[in-house]
Amino acid sequence: MKLKIFPYSKKFEEKFKKEKKRISKILKDCEIYHIGSTAVSGLGGKGIIDIMIGIKSFKDAKSVIKKLNELGFTHIHPKEKGRVFLSKDPKLFQKNVHIHITKIGSKAYKELLFFRDYLRKNKEEAKNYNNLKIKWLKESNADRKKYKNLKSKYINKILKKNETMFIPKVKFTNASVSYDINWFYHFLFKHRWDWSKYVIKRHPKIEEVKSFEKENERVNFLKKYINNFWKKNKVTINKNKSKYQKEWRKIEKEFFEFLSELMQINWPKNRKTIKAMMSICPICPRFLNDWSFSAFYNFDIKNALKVIMHECCHFLYFEKWKKMYPKADRKTFETPHIEWHLSELAAPIIINDKRVQKLLKQKASFYKEHSKIKIGKKTAPQFFTEIYNRNINKENGFELFLKEAYKQIKKHKKLFT
Ligand SMILES: [Zn+2]
Repeated sequence: MKLKIFPYSKKFEEKFKKEKKRISKILKDCEIYHIGSTAVSGLGGKGIIDIMIGIKSFKDAKSVIKKLNELGFTHIHPKEKGRVFLSKDPKLFQKNVHIHITKIGSKAYKELLFFRDYLRKNKEEAKNYNNLKIKWLKESNADRKKYKNLKSKYINKILKKNETMFIPKVKFTNASVSYDINWFYHFLFKHRWDWSKYVIKRHPKIEEVKSFEKENERVNFLKKYINNFWKKNKVTINKNKSKYQKEWRKIEKEFFEFLSELMQINWPKNRKTIKAMMSICPICPRFLNDWSFSAFYNFDIKNALKVIMHECCHFLYFEKWKKMYPKADRKTFETPHIEWHLSELAAPIIINDKRVQKLLKQKASFYKEHSKIKIGKKTAPQFFTEIYNRNINKENGFELFLKEAYKQIKKHKKLFT
């Protein structure tokens, strides 16, 4: 069937109100909105009444759909882009009523409302959109698929204006040699966990540094070794930097949007970039003060992406933490505090979430020191993963997870110190 564009009509609003009344009678505890072209005065369109139903959790979707079936919304389309889509008899075509079920606060939920409100507020843009629709109709020869493609390009352009959907970008640079010297020294001699086996595995010749007693002798040895290493491997480092950047770009947006939706918090607008510093030290610290972290230069790409995900997780995680615990002392975000331990458990738990695994397809690993800890019969990673799984699909699931996990880790503090 070919498309037609109808002018705006006041009847759209009346039709929506009628449907809303019917729906709210049988569905309690949800939000019902008029969205799409028929919801914007002055805008023409296919004449389909689009209704968004915001629910608290997709766990409730089945029972919601069942109730909507009773109202005649029997045609169920597969879930896509975070929404379940239902309509009445598809033969109705342009007189149809479409229902979009989304989770309150999700990306789809925010986008649908933002798009509508943007056009409601900007009459000129609504006019422009209306003219474009007529143009696309001609261009696509009224073919539904072609028309949809042209439309979605425009929609994406408008959605970019939504600042609450802002996400940062990871920029890759090379760490300085003095930075590397400093961190090698730290992980070899100063950190309370013994990282030297990981360092020596990647840099066997560095073991010699342990034969020196004095700090300045150690530093001199490291200086020479690291300087040389950088010179010899500059090409590889730069090549891998481009590779990391290129592969990361493919998943960055989806991953960052997922984190924001999961934790129910927006990325702060004043953090436009996260700096990834290519380093030859295989241990990758992160810095909450300026949102930067080290990326080891010679990971295979999956491991590199995993590390980048892990570090970026921390940045938004602590934003959430500060919101939940405004009085939290910044010091506790670093080792050896219990809050730091929890953040290091939470990052791989989040990365192992099946929605992230769709992007990464490789399980995240926990610190060996954490895997050695037993809480009852479970290891610490198992114990906290279970708390995550138990809560995450509930309303405010991430907050519930953090609260319970925090309570538990405090209770078992001795095991971590
Ligand atoms: Zn970490």
